[in-house]
Amino acid sequence: MKHFVEDRDYAPLIPVKDKVFDARSEYQHIEVYETMHLGNMLVLDGAVQTTERDEFIYHESLVLPAIVNSDNTGSVLIIGGGDGGAAREVLKACEKAEVELVEIDRMVMDVSRKFLPDVSSALQKIKITVGDGFDFMKTNSEKRDILIVDSTDPTPLAEGLFSEEFYRNAAELCDVFVAQTESPVADRDAHKRAINNMKKAFEHVYTYYACIPTYPGAIFSFTLGLKKQLNVKDIDIKARYYSKERFLSSIGSIEGWMN
Ligand code: SAM
Repeated sequence: MKHFVEDRDYAPLIPVKDKVFDARSEYQHIEVYETMHLGNMLVLDGAVQTTERDEFIYHESLVLPAIVNSDNTGSVLIIGGGDGGAAREVLKACEKAEVELVEIDRMVMDVSRKFLPDVSSALQKIKITVGDGFDFMKTNSEKRDILIVDSTDPTPLAEGLFSEEFYRNAAELCDVFVAQTESPVADRDAHKRAINNMKKAFEHVYTYYACIPTYPGAIFSFTLGLKKQLNVKDIDIKARYYSKERFLSSIGSIEGWMN
């Protein structure tokens, strides 16, 4: 049996049937694999982004805690997220939200439309800006209710999206902010750096964890930056992974473990 495995510590072996797409965009190496059990899988610069079967865990975990902690959900900005999964989750929960997505790599969106049709289904319903999210946040002054960062790991392409400057710009422009903040197992330094930078920019910061079997380390983190303390609304949504109880019980910090 063939396997795909990231060239990183703690990476899982993912059984695959075939590679169905392989190209280099202006920004990164883009591959799609047909896996044995998880549908199609998008890989960028050798790092698993999402698979059709487990994507709901990442996307619900990224998006829904921000929505349930927001008084308003009329306008949502997503930075990165070219596969469309975060936008789809926003529109599932808030049908009328005006969503804009700022993605640097057009090819990721084109490939997702072809190979991840359900994940990318919302791309046709939202405003798309092709550009660097770090630069966008420096020059944009339009306020939004919610800002979501759905970026790749902090490689040179996405490093700015984990910086204090970026988080400070974001804090000016939204009430509720959420970002993926890496795995405390596979990328402990990036995880801690992102949270520490967020703490310099946001008054209330809450990190929470989800189990994502296809990511190195399996435990992955997300961090909310809020102007007010956590106040989780009950909402009527059909979620497969998210629940209020699961979200609240997943909030924590790695301080004190794995020293
Ligand atoms: N679920 C994913 C993960 O953490 O593995 C993230 C998925 S999404 C495909 C990440 C997207 O962020 C990619 O399409 C990538 O092109 C985009 N991205 C990376 N750096 C960016 C930047 N500086 N500005 C805007 N988009 C960026």
